[in-house]
Amino acid sequence: MGSRRDCTWILGLPGFRVERVEGEDGDATSRVQIRIERRGPRRYPCSGCGRRTSRVRSARDRTWDDLPWAAHPVTLIYCQRRVYCRRCGIRTERIEFADPKARVTRRLRQQIGVDCQSMPTSHAAVRHGVSWGKARRAEHAFLAEWDRKRVKRRPRHIGLDEIQRGKGQQFWTVLSDVVHGEVIGLRKDRRETSATDLLTEELTARQRAAITAVCTDMHRPYLNAVGAVLKDAEVVFDKFHVLQHASAALDEVRRQEFFRAGAVMREHGRGKRWLLLRRWKTVRGSKRAELQALFAANRRLFKAYVLREQLDRLWTYKTRPGVLNFLLGWIKALRWQRLPEMERLGDFLFKHVEGIAAYCDHPVRFGVVESINTTIKGVLRRARGMRDEAMLLLKLKWATAHPIRSARDLMRFLTDQPLYSNR
Ligand SMILES: [Zn+2]
Repeated sequence: MGSRRDCTWILGLPGFRVERVEGEDGDATSRVQIRIERRGPRRYPCSGCGRRTSRVRSARDRTWDDLPWAAHPVTLIYCQRRVYCRRCGIRTERIEFADPKARVTRRLRQQIGVDCQSMPTSHAAVRHGVSWGKARRAEHAFLAEWDRKRVKRRPRHIGLDEIQRGKGQQFWTVLSDVVHGEVIGLRKDRRETSATDLLTEELTARQRAAITAVCTDMHRPYLNAVGAVLKDAEVVFDKFHVLQHASAALDEVRRQEFFRAGAVMREHGRGKRWLLLRRWKTVRGSKRAELQALFAANRRLFKAYVLREQLDRLWTYKTRPGVLNFLLGWIKALRWQRLPEMERLGDFLFKHVEGIAAYCDHPVRFGVVESINTTIKGVLRRARGMRDEAMLLLKLKWATAHPIRSARDLMRFLTDQPLYSNR
């Protein structure tokens, strides 16, 4: 082995020097054990108050996994003291390079934590030569520290939305910051109490005071919760949810016109559902001709399709009377068309026009709401379900905030920033 000085320099832990390096000769991938000791006078910082003292009560060897030396995984060995502190009594010594009770050094934790955000925990564990459990705990500590240290934002607009959990009627309720596109909180069902919990527990009073609009769907429990907790905020209905209702109505028209109208028509309308539910501007080429043939066969379906397309304009008006006028005109155009499904949709929209028109005053970014939902579904799919709810929330926060956008950001996470100075 090289001189202790060189080894100390390579290890690069401020305040510590290398005493002894042990590894198996001739084996290029064996584990290296590095015994380290504090530099300077024999005074040890108390883990309670950080004051240094020389009154040692007992001492015990402890080990930490650290960054590898080439192909050699590294274990640090240090004799950790228990000290008598004048203020705190008997305490363990504070270790600057690792979290209390952690089995890996802080700089290794950072590497594992960053890796886990782009690969499965099991891969990251193998890459860094630690067990799955160690990697998982390191990841959790990494994410928790990141979440604790970042600034608490005060978004003007928040989103309260449901996301399907697995198959069937199970849902998450997700609270998100729609301005910055980040997840704030998560609950395991979609009841009113969960929504109230989210709004009161995940947001501070200061944050709640800044909120002017809540983007949500027409789920009654959510509306109740928002009305009770955020009295000054207005509800804006999510555009995609509103249009989903319109698409459902259009689909019902299709069923009536084709599938309940005999075998000939049924054959004609077969396999056209997704084509019909797509927006006109996204349909291209031969598919457009197909759609036109469908409309030629049935005028009523055509009318319903056009009416659905027009609904987009609900979100183009700058004033509330403008929205109301447009909707009234839209409902008027339904007369004599014999489209009961669309009429029902008209009633529904009229009943909720307040929340639709609120968009004039609170231009919520609907695209951000959608992209958050897509990200959440992506994380859930990759994890194949997650039992640890706290971990899931942290992962979602990271994925939606995506704090690493440049090489410099990555560097900031990988370089160890010591919490306490040694000198
Ligand atoms: Zn102390």
